[in-house]
Amino acid sequence: MTSTGLWTRMVHAGEGRQAPLGRPVATPIYATAAFTYDSMEDVDKVFSGQGGDYVYTRHGNPTVAAFEEAMSILEDGEGACAYASGMAAMHAALFACDLTPGSTVLASQDLYGATLGLLDHVFAAAGVQTVTADFCDLDDVREKTLGAKPKALIAETLSNPLLKVCDLHGCALIAKEAGARLVVDNTFASPFLCQPLTLGADFVVHSATKYLSGHGDSMGGVVVARRAQDLKALAKVMKLVGGVLSVWEAHHLLRGIKTLGLRLERQCDNARQLAGLLREDARLARVHYPARSEAAASGLLDRVLRQPHAGALVSIELKDNTRAAAFRFMNALKLCVRLTSLGDVATGVSHSASSSHREVPPETRARLGITEGLVRISVGIEDVADLHADISQALAASVGLVK
Ligand SMILES: *Cc1c(COP(=O)(O)O)cnc(C)c1O
Repeated sequence: MTSTGLWTRMVHAGEGRQAPLGRPVATPIYATAAFTYDSMEDVDKVFSGQGGDYVYTRHGNPTVAAFEEAMSILEDGEGACAYASGMAAMHAALFACDLTPGSTVLASQDLYGATLGLLDHVFAAAGVQTVTADFCDLDDVREKTLGAKPKALIAETLSNPLLKVCDLHGCALIAKEAGARLVVDNTFASPFLCQPLTLGADFVVHSATKYLSGHGDSMGGVVVARRAQDLKALAKVMKLVGGVLSVWEAHHLLRGIKTLGLRLERQCDNARQLAGLLREDARLARVHYPARSEAAASGLLDRVLRQPHAGALVSIELKDNTRAAAFRFMNALKLCVRLTSLGDVATGVSHSASSSHREVPPETRARLGITEGLVRISVGIEDVADLHADISQALAASVGLVK
């Protein structure tokens, strides 16, 4: 190296050191676009797929692979494929369902807005049509499945923003009977609270941006497959469409997962206490919280979510059920953060009608129960007394401002 010119040294100095003997305890960030080998024969072998080694980061990277392996283990799958966002992951999962022009997808009417948008725009343009059903009503799911003969069913473990619990096992049986695949978006529950593959789903999708990250500082998505043969299709989207997870995000997410249980246990406890306190509040018309729902009464909640938890989200509907009142309330919050995400250690609030369901026509929103005065609270790990005090003072401020 010392005999080379300065320009050469600037490029090559410090690279290609021998791997250290001691193994790192935490997975290193392999910030490299490509991998080199001692001989072209070795490169040829790796390209042929033998050995599972790495050639190019769009095709695979050790840091990303560590995150994928962790997710596959947590979701009890055969393997996982990571992507740059939850939406890229959902796109890949749908692609892996062998959709072709003329195919139909049966989607939950309550799906995350962008997922419905993905179906209505990207997949519709490719000739795939979407039929929606109420996935909290298995009769409706069965009837629409028999009628529409979908290739794939898409459910969410907990619906947004009304937090309805889906009978994933029931949906899996219907899908299986019809020869369709079941894709479950498990973002709101996380693998700590629910493992859809064990209930019969074929694919689990996560926006890793939410609970898996937990700190609001990374963006990513992942699909976990129940069967090994489905991994090929997922990897194909990763390699050819190219929306791969960055190694930096993979590192953050891998670290986030280590405290997922700790964070969620406290977030769920806080949510339970907060829901109890808010139910007493006369300024609210309704509190949506799964432990106080039909699903809890029927025993469905116990079968879907790890007990004694009911998730870490609570949605409230103001008595003054208007957008103006919701905005006044949200503007008056001093501790809870106004944001259109969820799952962070800090408590966040979002107004569904103007954010996640903005593109949904007002009549449809009204039919679904997503009213103008509805605010979703993603409960964090703060002191619950402080959260309650903040929400209470904001309600007072917003009510006080009327008339
Ligand atoms: C956020 C979210 C997505 C999309 O994930 P991104 O990481 O924002 O692409 C999909 N589904 C649900 C339920 C989400 O909350």
